[in-house]
This record gives sequence, C-alpha cells and structure tokens, in this order.
Amino acid sequence: MKARPHGRAATRRARQGGTPLPPRSPRQRDVGRLMPNFETSQKTKVWRLSTAKHLKKWLPHKSKLRHRLETCRKGRRCASGACPTCRRQVRRWFVGQALDMLEEIGARMPHLLTTPIFAVTIIDRQDQRPQGELHTFEMIAMIRRIRKLFERAGLGPVVILGGVDFSFNIDDTGLDRWDPHWCPHLHLVVIGATRKALKKALAPHFIADRTVKRPLYIKEVKGTGADFVRKSSYCLKNVFNKIPRFIGAATGKEHNKKYSLIREPAAELASYLDLYQLTDRLFLRNIRRHGWRLVLTLKPDTQVMSG
Ligand SMILES: [Zn+2]
Repeated sequence: MKARPHGRAATRRARQGGTPLPPRSPRQRDVGRLMPNFETSQKTKVWRLSTAKHLKKWLPHKSKLRHRLETCRKGRRCASGACPTCRRQVRRWFVGQALDMLEEIGARMPHLLTTPIFAVTIIDRQDQRPQGELHTFEMIAMIRRIRKLFERAGLGPVVILGGVDFSFNIDDTGLDRWDPHWCPHLHLVVIGATRKALKKALAPHFIADRTVKRPLYIKEVKGTGADFVRKSSYCLKNVFNKIPRFIGAATGKEHNKKYSLIREPAAELASYLDLYQLTDRLFLRNIRRHGWRLVLTLKPDTQVMSG
C-alpha cells in the first residue's frame, strides 16, 4: 500500500473512487447490541456537529469539510475519516468481522486459541508530532513500518486485528518539560502468541522516555465473549483524547487524565483524518481485506509463538 499523498486533490480522489460504507453486521455480531455502552447514532451526531463547530472556529478555511460533516445523513453519508457517524459504521463492521475471524480460527486452527488472546497497545516515540504539525505524520507508512517490525521481531505468524488511535498529550505537571504534542499509537488484538513471546519480541523496540511512560501494554483478553468484543472495538475507538500528565497530590507520582478532544486540536485532527479513507486506520496481519470482508490468510499449520 502506498502512503497517501496529502492535499485536496487526494481527498477528492479518495472520495470519488473511495470505499463506500460497510454493510451492517448480523444481529448476533453487532457490537451495537453486544456492548451496552456502545456509542449511539444520536451521540455520534452530537460529536459530528461539534467537530464541525471546532472547524468553523479554528480552521475556518476548511469549510468544505465542515459542510460535509454538517450534511452527512442517512442514505447520503459523507464517508470522511473525520466523521464520527461514518466511523461508527466502520467500527461496528470491524467488530463483526473480528468475531467472524475468531470463529474461523476456532474451527480451522483451534490450537492458536490454546494461549490467551492479548490486547496490545504500542506507542512509538518517533510518531509524535508537535501541535499544528500532525499533517507531517504518515499514518500508512507507520502501519507498514510496525507490521514489518512484527515480522522482523519473529512474530510473523501471529494474527492481528487493530487500528491507529491519536491522543494529544500535555505536560500539566507545572514542570514544563515538553511541549503539547500528538501521540499516534496502535491498539491491537493479537492471536497466536504468548505474553512472553510478545514482550520479548516487542519490548526492545519501543522505548520509554519522559513523554511516554509505558510504550508497550500487553493485556490479556478474558475469553472470546464480552471482553473480546470490548477490546476489538477499542482498536477503532471513535473518541480521541486530550491527555494531561499531572502529579497526584496524594501520591506525588505522575498520572494521566483523559478528556475528549476539543477546540483547536479537535479541528486539527478532523482535518487530518479527512485525508484518509475510513479503512486506512486498520492494522491487519495475516488477514486481508477484500472489499468489506476480512479473510484469514494464515497457513493452517501455523503454531503458537511462545517465547
Ligand atoms: Zn459522515
């Protein structure tokens, strides 16, 4: 996959030849029914209109995008990566496909499920960008780079479903050690490797510093039911956060808070995401996307990667 060039022409091309919205997942695989607090379409409408408002105030020259967000409606969806309503449809589709994938693995390669599934979050410092410079971050190149890294690190045969997330991080400790910046990162669901194998392969590549306290989180997914649904839906989360770092009065230690992104950063991120198709945030390994179907490409004799 080529890195997508930026600019209005690219946006138009992407939309004209672009991917339409996905079909609905069947009832029994619809995250909207499986997860009680999954965003409603009413909620995404509120987010969509407030994104349009932030654009109006902070990036008034982005009037076309603003108009698309304001006029996105049933039967005439805008399909912009900046649109929370359209993103919700892709998120619903994605979880349905993840459940399909799990069933297929269970039927064809049940040995891969003898080790737990893991939810892995990866933060690579090199992807950080100062406020106002998110446009210099190449999302598709980052996905490609980290997919290669998995292979080089000896994790070639694992199955991964995931996506890119963005946070806007601020040093609110009063120590003024770093400037506010964008922190693109990945949320992945990994099947077919032990925790030890994942840690051993990945930890050397993602280094902590003052801005990134924990560059690698590996958390066990509890079973293949509700927790799998929750963790796979998190891969394409629809709300982006502002994360101030502060020092707890009681603990004296550094902690992170989480707020929904608003104002100027919200406008900047919307303008950035509009350059991409809705599926460009996906991170897949040993899975191919054919239109709106995800297909497992793993060899049936693949074994669990144990470190
Ligand atoms: Zn839309």
